[in-house]
Amino acid sequence: MKTAIITGITGQDGAYLSKLLLEQNYKVIGIARNLLAGNLNGLSFLNVVNDIELVEANLLDLSNIIRFLEKYKPDEIYNLAAQSSVGLSFDQPIGTLEFNIISIANILEAVRMVNKDIKVYQSSSSEMYGNVDKNKLPIDENFIIHPASPYGISKASAHWISVNYREAYNLFIACGILFNHESVLRRQNFVTKKIITSAFRIKNGEQKELRVGNISIQRDWGYVPEYVKVMWKMLNTKKPDDYVICSGEAHSLQEFIEKVFTTLNLDSKKLVRPDKSLYRPVELEKIYGNPNKAKKELDWNYTMSFDELIAQLIEDEIKYTEWAKSNQKN
Ligand code: NAP
Repeated sequence: MKTAIITGITGQDGAYLSKLLLEQNYKVIGIARNLLAGNLNGLSFLNVVNDIELVEANLLDLSNIIRFLEKYKPDEIYNLAAQSSVGLSFDQPIGTLEFNIISIANILEAVRMVNKDIKVYQSSSSEMYGNVDKNKLPIDENFIIHPASPYGISKASAHWISVNYREAYNLFIACGILFNHESVLRRQNFVTKKIITSAFRIKNGEQKELRVGNISIQRDWGYVPEYVKVMWKMLNTKKPDDYVICSGEAHSLQEFIEKVFTTLNLDSKKLVRPDKSLYRPVELEKIYGNPNKAKKELDWNYTMSFDELIAQLIEDEIKYTEWAKSNQKN
């Protein structure tokens, strides 16, 4: 039985990755900064919370990491913990930089000291590329890194630290450069989750309208349960490398809103209000990637269309709401 440590276990990727690894008979150790009951909703919803060993740890404290590597002797570490909101990173730039960079530096130092055979997955991000020239899209692994937010800068630094440790110390470190991926476990401060929950609330008469920032931005959106599969593949292939993980298509936020509202028989033209106060200091206008390297080298097969993604997110939202209601009653 292999042992995997997942940092950021309480996040959306952490929950879905735990489920996948448990299905593959791994022992899963989940690291969280705080094990409050509310934080474990995603793991409870996926029915995995009782099958994981949950541990509180501070990834800014190297000695803490060394101790849990010595105790749990993992084969693989998936580093998913991060201040992951681009918007919030403009309000909390120093905190975002500090946590997102130092945490991976500590993990890699600890691996180097405790056991160099531990394989490490680092969550890199399409936000590292910033505002790219539209004529040069799609983004692949060779694109110039030029981030446009404190979050993007933190992810770029964490990425280069990981590459450096791989090259300098011959460690097995793979970086997944993931484009936006969504699930029902997305937090409310992310626009896709806000759109879907607001649409349901409007439908139920609990909310009058939806206020959103720049709806012309275009993103490459995917589905979390499919994206976590490739994280595992990256650590279970012969050679560690960096991979762009994406759907390969760009769609605007406006399209996202229209599809969600139309599915719920709501008129987005009447119910959605643009709000300039929700614009970011710098917006990425349009990004999408080229997933061919991962498809070819890792045999990763992502086939979900944008329409299928929206339909799936709505179906999952209905299931989650029912689960949350029955959980409150019990
Ligand atoms: P998420 O749902 O926001 O989860 C983030 C996790 O990190 C949570 O467990 C959270 O713990 C933890 N965390 C946040 N700030 C922390 C801090 N200061 N100290 C300790 N722990 C902290 O993110 P996700 O969508 O699962 O993303 C997983 C990883 O992929 C992240 O590194 C993210 O940056 C990266 N990524 C995500 C996307 C995407 O579209 N989702 C795209 C590219 C890369 P709490 O529960 O305590 O808050």
